Amino acid sequence: MSEHAEHGDDYEKRLQAFTGGELSPLTPGQDPVNLPMIRHWVEAMGDTNPVYTDEGEARATGRPGVVAPASMVQAWTMRGYAATVAPPPGRRGFDVLVALLEEGGYTSVVATDSELEFSRELVPGDHVHVQEIVESISAEKKTGLGAGRFVTTLKTYRDQDGELVATQRWRTLRYRPTDSTPAQPRPLRPRPALNRDNAFWFEAAKEHWLVVQRCASCETLRHPPGPCCPHCGSLEWDTVRASGRGRVHTFTVNHHPRHAAFDYPLVVAVVELAEGTRLITNLTGVAPEDVTVDMPVVLDWLDADPELSLPVFRPVATEDH
Ligand code: ZN
Repeated sequence: MSEHAEHGDDYEKRLQAFTGGELSPLTPGQDPVNLPMIRHWVEAMGDTNPVYTDEGEARATGRPGVVAPASMVQAWTMRGYAATVAPPPGRRGFDVLVALLEEGGYTSVVATDSELEFSRELVPGDHVHVQEIVESISAEKKTGLGAGRFVTTLKTYRDQDGELVATQRWRTLRYRPTDSTPAQPRPLRPRPALNRDNAFWFEAAKEHWLVVQRCASCETLRHPPGPCCPHCGSLEWDTVRASGRGRVHTFTVNHHPRHAAFDYPLVVAVVELAEGTRLITNLTGVAPEDVTVDMPVVLDWLDADPELSLPVFRPVATEDH
């Protein structure tokens, strides 16, 4: 027997050791069954059956009071916001199983089905407890998503007296994602926040014109665009076309956080144009470690997508000096 197959047998044993085992012990829900939560639930579900909320109607039909919607059973044991900020108590078994599945390469998960069976109706004051066990872990199966194993767990819901309320058989496919999983198309760069004051600048960029806004009264150049001259206060303006020459005023190299529209490491620079205004831009055609402050750069164009072209800068080639 090959070493690999031996390892495989051992893995199968470790995995199957979970079958029948407890993933989480019988744990009480945070609150007893109560009318306010029932109201929220039926409102969210759009269920107007008075049996859930109208005490008078319930008594008129011979019931002692309202009942909770049966399909709400899981809600009584959910941990609410706490579950997002702290690991659930007593779920160590679950973490160990997930780690073992990941060791086998089953790193992705998709829920496949949930079967609920109800034994009795819940009424306000009942206190629901839940226990979860592993019912079965299948042999490896080939699926459309990749090779994987179906993991079936059984949640048993009991009331404060230990009486069975409901069961929930919950099946997930834990699978090894394949390389043939279609790649996501690259997302577009974030859109600029266009408004009436800056739209002209991006419109010009679409034509590969780098323009600078100029006050029509005192001729002071300004960037980023704005409605009013910071020098003389005039609202009249026109534009001049930049030469495309500049220098790196300062820069940073962005590694994180990443956005899928960009390539990393990403050099983000403030370039001072020969005309004197500065703009935030990206540098291209240069390794991050070769960028220096005051480095002479020249305009290039990035056609990010059909709707967005942006000025970027590359180092001036030696022969351009
Ligand atoms: Zn001015």
